[in-house]
This record gives sequence, C-alpha cells and structure tokens, in this order.
Amino acid sequence: MSAETAPGRHVLILGGTTEARRLAAALVDTGAGRVTTSLAGRVSAPVLPPGETRVGGFGGPAGLAEWITAHGVTHLVDATHPFAERMSFNAAEAAALSGIPLLALRRPGWTPEPGDAWTFTDSLTGAAALLPSLGSRAFLTTGRMGLHTFAHLTRTWFLVRSVDPPDAPVPPRLEVVLARGPFTLDDERELLARHRIDVLVTKDSGGSATAPKLTAAREAGIPVLVVARPPVPEGVAVAESVEAVLKWPA
Ligand code: NAP
Repeated sequence: MSAETAPGRHVLILGGTTEARRLAAALVDTGAGRVTTSLAGRVSAPVLPPGETRVGGFGGPAGLAEWITAHGVTHLVDATHPFAERMSFNAAEAAALSGIPLLALRRPGWTPEPGDAWTFTDSLTGAAALLPSLGSRAFLTTGRMGLHTFAHLTRTWFLVRSVDPPDAPVPPRLEVVLARGPFTLDDERELLARHRIDVLVTKDSGGSATAPKLTAAREAGIPVLVVARPPVPEGVAVAESVEAVLKWPA
C-alpha cells in the first residue's frame, strides 16, 4: 500500500484490536490514501485510531457491502479480534458482493512452552464443561460477552477481568476487575496469588499485551483452559502482522 498508488484508494479497517489501531496509524503515516476504521461500539470509551472512524454494526453482509459501495471503499482489511467470528464471515461475504479485495489481519496464536499445563477446548461452552474438573478458583479472561456461559457454575469462584462491567446473567460467586491491557508479569503474579487462583481460562487471542498471565500461570503451576480460535472464512488471505498488510496488495 504505497503512497504512489494512493489516489482513489480507500481502505476500510474492521477494527477493535491493537493491531487495527497500529495499522490505521501506519497507513495514515505513509499517506496510503483514505483510511477509515470501523468499531462495533461494544466498549464505552474506545481508544480511537488515527484517520476516520465510524461506530456500530452495518446490518449484516449486505449492509457492509452497501457501505463499501456508497463510500468508495477499494480495500477491506478484517482486523477484528480472532474471536469476532460473525464479523469475519460478514467481511468475506461483503467483499465478494462488492468485488473488492479482502485481507484478514490475524496475529499468531499462543503456543504452550515446557512447564505449561494447557487444555484446549473449542468453545466457551466446552470451557464451562471442563472447568470444574481443573480448579475451583478461576481467573476468567475470556471477556464479558460470554460470561453467561459460566453462570450455572455455582461452586466455582470467579475473578473476571473485562474492560466494561459484565451484564447479567453472571456466575453467583464472582469478583470483577475492570482493566484494559497491556498487563505486566508482576501484576499477573500478584493477582493470581492474592486471589488464590487455581485455574486460568483464556481465549487463544495471541499477542503480547495479555500474554504475561500465561507466564504467571506456568510459574505458579496453574492449569490453563484455552479456547481455540474459530477458523478464518475459507478463501480469505491472512496476514500475521501490520507490516505484512502494508505490503498488500503485492
Ligand atoms: P461478532 O460476534 O463477530 O460480530 C457481531 C456483530 O457486531 C457483527 O455482525 C456486526 O454487526 C458487529 N461488528 C463486529 N465488529 C464490528 C466492527 N469492527 N465494525 C462494525 N460492526 C462490527 O463480534 P464480537 O465478537 O461481538 O466483537 C465485537 C468487536 O469487539 C469486534 O470489532 C472485535 O474486534 C472486538 N473484540 C472482540 C473480542 C472477542 O473476544 N470476541 C475481543 C476483543 C475485541 P452487523 O452485522 O450489524 O454489521
């Protein structure tokens, strides 16, 4: 995405991640044309990226395709969170409908290291089913949106960390910590020890901002329940870094 080919280019970034903000900043910096970031509007005080922004759903794939056409979007980058599955499928369908290229920006997932005791599961429902067999004081870092999936676990005590407060239904025995990453290893060690956590639940989000909890769990010998990522829609090209997106289209 060089400045020479910028005239007429309008990049729409589907955002909500650190990488999406970094990409918007890099594209604006390099004069790569018009750059708009779209946010779902889930977070009450989002950190806004450079360039133009818009907030709220498009009304499904057809709505996104209409927006693309109406605003002269020439390139679509799906830089949503790896677990924003519906939006990624909408992006694939809308790109096909409007005939513009689509690239998914997905940071690599995490991989276990020696000393880790990870159990993978394919959904939050799967995590809720396995959790009681792994521990009784859980640090739940899967976000506030799926918390209802754990609401029936009356015997587990939960420490929930989220950016905004969760909505009911929530598990009956819980404490909420409102915080936005990045988190340091010292903070994570202290949190696990203070709350006598004996199991950590996380999505395989990848990236460095929230990885220290995994190191802290390894050090403390705490098992980790990892929700595996949903697949990227078939046929969609994937870039693993902002730098790789900047080279696109080749
Ligand atoms: P989702 O289930 O995949 O999407 C649900 C609906 O939200 C979509 O159909 C779309 O509505 C709207 N939407 C999602 N992302 C949007 C965007 N960037 N711009 C405009 N509309 C968007 O998404 P989700 O899992 O609820 O995540 C919502 C947002 O939070 C995403 O942008 C994602 O990057 C961010 N996020 C998600 C997670 C996670 O664990 N899921 C974690 C951190 C951040 P319409 O169909 O009406 O267009």
